[in-house]
Amino acid sequence: MFTKILIANRGEIALRILRACKELGISTVAVHSTADADAMHVKLADESVCIGPPPAKDSYLNVPQLLAACEITGAEAVHPGYGFLSENARFAEILADHHIGFIGPKPEHIRLMGDKIEAKRTAKRLGIPCVPGSEGGITDDVDARRIAADIGYPVLIKAAAGGGGRGMKVARTEADLDVALATARSEAKAAFGDSTVYLEKYLEKPRHIEIQVLGDGRGNAVHLGERDCSLQRRHQKVWEESPSPALNVDARNRIGEVVADAMRKLKYLSAGTVEFLYENGEFYFIEMNTRIQVEHPVTEMVTGIDLLNEQIRLAAGLPLSITQDDITINGHAIECRLNAENPSTFRPSPGRITYFHAPGGLGVRVDSAVYQGYTIPPYYDSLVGKLIVHGKTRNECLMRLRRALDEIVVDGVETTAPLFRTLVRHPDIANGQYDIHWLEHFLAGSPDI
Ligand code: ADP
Repeated sequence: MFTKILIANRGEIALRILRACKELGISTVAVHSTADADAMHVKLADESVCIGPPPAKDSYLNVPQLLAACEITGAEAVHPGYGFLSENARFAEILADHHIGFIGPKPEHIRLMGDKIEAKRTAKRLGIPCVPGSEGGITDDVDARRIAADIGYPVLIKAAAGGGGRGMKVARTEADLDVALATARSEAKAAFGDSTVYLEKYLEKPRHIEIQVLGDGRGNAVHLGERDCSLQRRHQKVWEESPSPALNVDARNRIGEVVADAMRKLKYLSAGTVEFLYENGEFYFIEMNTRIQVEHPVTEMVTGIDLLNEQIRLAAGLPLSITQDDITINGHAIECRLNAENPSTFRPSPGRITYFHAPGGLGVRVDSAVYQGYTIPPYYDSLVGKLIVHGKTRNECLMRLRRALDEIVVDGVETTAPLFRTLVRHPDIANGQYDIHWLEHFLAGSPDI
């Protein structure tokens, strides 16, 4: 097992990793930009190293600085968290060249899944059902028209290098296609430096359902059920829950086994998430994320399995601590992503938190790195923290979430808490009846939260 780990991240995930390390008896090294000198992960780590100025490209994405920090502190492995360098295969390789462990998947799997066209090909080969679409990238508009006519309108144009919901365009008819292709290509080029796009059938009312997996890199893998992340704004998840209100035990086990089997064939290492759209009882693969995800706590709450602990153990070459038979889904969990944003306009609201009170009590978990007097810097994402609640039933979970949301106080900056207070009381949410477009429609009809 490692004795010292460097955490190449910030915010709540840096704290989450730090907590897992401490519980395993592993020393921690925090890294931070000059803007994060007062951050909680820096205060709680055993050692800390300043790695550069505020812009992420000069600090959290600065590989030479991270290597130097490992060398100075003698860290044996790096946990990248999510975002930043977490899905950078080259970073994992560079660490390996320096005999430093990377707490994540094998570089070849990061690379494979980072290209969404390759990822779909691989998924298909491994027996995972995919959204109907083009076999590869589309370079020719005539081909695009033929393929779109084959799969049937509406179609979605997506960036091969996509992420964060960027570079996606819907074409409802052939007349829309040329403009949609040109826009998607230029957006993809601007966002990812790669204009390659591909076509997919646009599903009208799907849910976003994703399967959490863990693999040991030697052909053993388990699935830990699903998360329903259908409540989204601009293709970004806002609220996640497990189990999905739309799945029964049979559907869960069926897709879970398909995914776990694919991961065994791939000899996948570490935690990963296979994402699907789910419509009319059918699953359609959209992508795989080769990292720990923001929404991982809902799975931890219903399975009782510490995913960070497993990731660290697996990176150290230890076997999975659980078999598929050990994994049972207990009760229900919901996570709300609280952002420092205006709850109606979603404009970021960085600044000093003058008062902070976190909710507590049975079944309530707050994963947050903020504290009273902390100043949220303007340079990074606006996540203030995640409120996760667990209950025996979905109804108990919703009632608990209501009261936890009523307890939370964050003064000095605006947060999206009022939006969640409204959502948790909405009949469609209470009934579990929502798809990936529900939140956008709701927000369009409720300009003031
Ligand atoms: P990204 O990597 O940019 O996050 P994804 O492929 O994961 O892109 O898709 C993000 C979201 O976009 C999905 O959760 C879903 O809401 C929507 N989406 C993606 N593919 C489709 C599709 N074929 N039909 C309808 N919506 C889609």
